Amino acid sequence: MYDAAVSENRRRAERLSSSARILWKRQGDDFLQLDRVRDVSAQGAFVVSDAVSEPDAALEFELHDEAGRALASGVAKVVRLGDGGMGIAFLDVTIDAAEVSQSMPPPRPPPPLPAAAPPLPTAPAATSDEWVAPQLEPLSVPPLDRVIIGIDLGTTNTCAAWVDERVGEGRPQIIPGRTGGNTIPTMINFDTDGRIHVGQRAADRQILYPRRTVYGSKRLIGRTWQPELAAEAQGHFAYPLGEAEGQRFGIDLGDQVVSMDAVAARVLREVRATAEDFLQREVRSAVITVPAYFSEVQREAVRRAAFMAELTVHRIVNEPTAAAVAYGHARGEEARVAVWDFGGGTFDFSVVDIRDERYEVVATGGDNFVGGADFDDELASMILERFLEAEGLEELEPTPQQIARLREAAELTKRALSVQSEFDVRLTDFAREPKRDLSVTITREDFEARTAPLVERTLTIARGVLLSASILPEEIDDVVLVGGTTRIPAVQRAVAELFGRRPSKRINPDEAVAHGAALLGHEISAGEGPVLLDLLPMTVGHAIDARRFVPVVKRNERLPCVEVLTFGGDLLGRIQVPLFQGESPDAAQNEYLCTVVVEDARLRDGERAQIRLSFDEHCLMAIDAFVERSGKPLEVTLDRERPLEDILQDLGAFDGPPAPEAWQLPETRISKVLGKLFGFFRKK
Ligand code: ADP
Ligand code: MG
Repeated sequence: MYDAAVSENRRRAERLSSSARILWKRQGDDFLQLDRVRDVSAQGAFVVSDAVSEPDAALEFELHDEAGRALASGVAKVVRLGDGGMGIAFLDVTIDAAEVSQSMPPPRPPPPLPAAAPPLPTAPAATSDEWVAPQLEPLSVPPLDRVIIGIDLGTTNTCAAWVDERVGEGRPQIIPGRTGGNTIPTMINFDTDGRIHVGQRAADRQILYPRRTVYGSKRLIGRTWQPELAAEAQGHFAYPLGEAEGQRFGIDLGDQVVSMDAVAARVLREVRATAEDFLQREVRSAVITVPAYFSEVQREAVRRAAFMAELTVHRIVNEPTAAAVAYGHARGEEARVAVWDFGGGTFDFSVVDIRDERYEVVATGGDNFVGGADFDDELASMILERFLEAEGLEELEPTPQQIARLREAAELTKRALSVQSEFDVRLTDFAREPKRDLSVTITREDFEARTAPLVERTLTIARGVLLSASILPEEIDDVVLVGGTTRIPAVQRAVAELFGRRPSKRINPDEAVAHGAALLGHEISAGEGPVLLDLLPMTVGHAIDARRFVPVVKRNERLPCVEVLTFGGDLLGRIQVPLFQGESPDAAQNEYLCTVVVEDARLRDGERAQIRLSFDEHCLMAIDAFVERSGKPLEVTLDRERPLEDILQDLGAFDGPPAPEAWQLPETRISKVLGKLFGFFRKK
């Protein structure tokens, strides 16, 4: 059997054309390399690579065809070194696991999805209990006679746009903020007299009232409150975090805790009001963008926020996809583009194939916890360190005001260093006792040295995403930079180096996402629209004992998708399944979504209950349950009330392998094979 598999495999290897590629690493290394292969035969191949190994070095490898399908894998050794590469001899080759599984009978298809839900009603006028999260209907087909604006609700800045058919041949136009700029800061300030300031006015008040001014709310929107996560997050925020209703993150104002969802709602309400003033008509509809790397609950929270702002959302679209739409609209050719979206708080990387009116995301990944704000934090500490050094002080516990001033100075310095090689930071009366001004000089060199790890983190993510889809950097036709942080020269250099080309200057990094959303909104209102094919950004699974995370729908699965969980008849009565989203083997390290509860699952002998998870093209989840063979529906509820701590307590302590490092190869079929082969996920 084994021999047959090997010879079959070799035959296949022989058939490979020169377009084959190889994913390989030296034994014992963590480092993975993706290269082209030439002259493949049953005995070996020539690997075209810069990362050549010594003769006799043992390699673990996986061969892919052009479409990225893993064909064969095994162990090889380096036999000769050539110009621009190395020869390898196959020692032990195994047939690809996924190919084998194709011979197994296909699983029984689940019964059809429940009938289409009624259309989404227009949002009602806001009431006094505006902070209470409503239950939402699924997204709907919009009426045709409305303007649907596009909103890029950014971590740092929010930008809105629309398409005015009368001008610019259907090109999107930015809706300016009240103070004239094209974007407004995503901030709100709570006055002690009950007034709320949004956007630039909130930003202006931050220095005076750091504890009552919310920034970065998008980093925490929709997330379930967890004391440890909160303690860690608190370090990034100058305002006190608190637990808002429904286990949500919020700002603690002393007399009440206002959730981040409600904060986002206020920003969206402001955007809507500004748009109404500008367009001189009612605005009730929008396409809203979110980071591709947003979890299901975060997407749902954005929709809820829009609802509270009396906006009907017609599409939740991933920011990089929207940027690709803006790019595709401007360029109108076939292309494979990489979108490098580096904003204030998040990094998103996607590869999108554009063909006619079709946008297909072929790979995506990112990090919700790296962005321009981290560069500010590094610079702020650096400025403080320099100040202490100059003053001969040992330490200083900065007050919230000092932190706010330092952060503001750091951001200013960072922007300046994007265009000049050094910058003098001056803060008068920075310290009170003894009274001292702060005056330090920061060079671009210092800044780059200090923040290099942040840039490296994004490179690592992007390389992982490319590897997982078996895409070589040179196969990218164009690189699109999105987000303010891509204005940093070191970021541009790193991107240019990775792809061996200068990024496109065709689109505006601050406006591309809103432009794309506006284009989509316009096309939806005209009853058509480009085809957007997206991927599930993070694995969704459930937790079992010892907090172990069992993946159900794997990350990078094409949307829409459906997966079914089956439970045996010995589980009488009640079924409870806590769902999480993320890549850690420890469920608690992932994002808690909800607990699926089937109250009355009394099954007859041999019957099994099935819970079905369906993700629509917006990446929103629907759940239903039924009896396996008969398809008889079972009543299912989603519990989001039970404290997460209690759920984790019931599951016990985590006893699995330690969580993998912050970044990992996106879990696809290929990386699954690799994970097995190389112990990639088992790495320390
Ligand atoms: P988001 O999508 O998170 O709202 P943006 O795309 O608006 O973010 O980017 C905001 C980030 O970009 C902030 O951290 C800001 O400091 C940074 N930024 C804006 N302009 C520059 C610049 N010229 N140089 C460096 N960073 C910049
Ligand atoms: Mg952005």
